[in-house]
Formats: sequence, structure tokens, C-alpha cells
Amino acid sequence: MNRFSSRELFELRNTIPVDVLIQDHLMVPSKISDGYFRFLCPLCREFQTAVNPVTNLARCFRCEKNFNTIDLVMDILGYGFKDSVIFLKKIHKRPSKLKAMIEGIGQSPSGRR
Ligand SMILES: [Zn+2]
Repeated sequence: MNRFSSRELFELRNTIPVDVLIQDHLMVPSKISDGYFRFLCPLCREFQTAVNPVTNLARCFRCEKNFNTIDLVMDILGYGFKDSVIFLKKIHKRPSKLKAMIEGIGQSPSGRR
């Protein structure tokens, strides 16, 4: 059974830009409207959406729901939690300060102590 550490999950939620994920990896129809990135909400199929680069959350104002990167993969691709995390891990290859810092802390991904 695969388990993911909270550190790994934090990294996947925060270091993959949510707009890049939506547009380039999930291939969700999106557009810039009034200067804001809008994407097709996977739940209501409307564009009453925006992303917050500070929190790295996507939001649908109609559904009144926030989506983090893992939620988006689950809702758009219909994956379960585990498969969604694996999907994000595959696209999460860009080096970042946070990633370097995290990898310096522990080398083992198994989570066993
Ligand atoms: Zn919606």
C-alpha cells in the first residue's frame, strides 16, 4: 500500500502552479477574462472561476468550492486520491527551493521509521 507523507502532499499542493496544472496538464478549457485566469469548473461547467496564486487554490464562485491541486486531478480526471498524487508526482519535476529543502531533510520516500 502506498502512503504519502504530509510533507510530500504539502509540496504537491503548493509547488505546482495551479493554473499551469489546469491548462497544461489537465487540458481543461481556460481563458483570461478581466485579467483573471478562468477555467471550466469540472463540477458545474461554468467559467465563474479564478485561481489564487498566493494560496495556489482554484475557486469556483458558483459552486463556492476551492480546489487544491490534488482536488483538481480527482475531480477532472476522476482519479482516486492515490492515483491523483501519483499523477502530480510525475509532473512535479521542476526544481524549486522548497523541493531542495524538503529533499535535504529526508531521503526515504517510504515513510517508515
Ligand atoms: Zn463550479
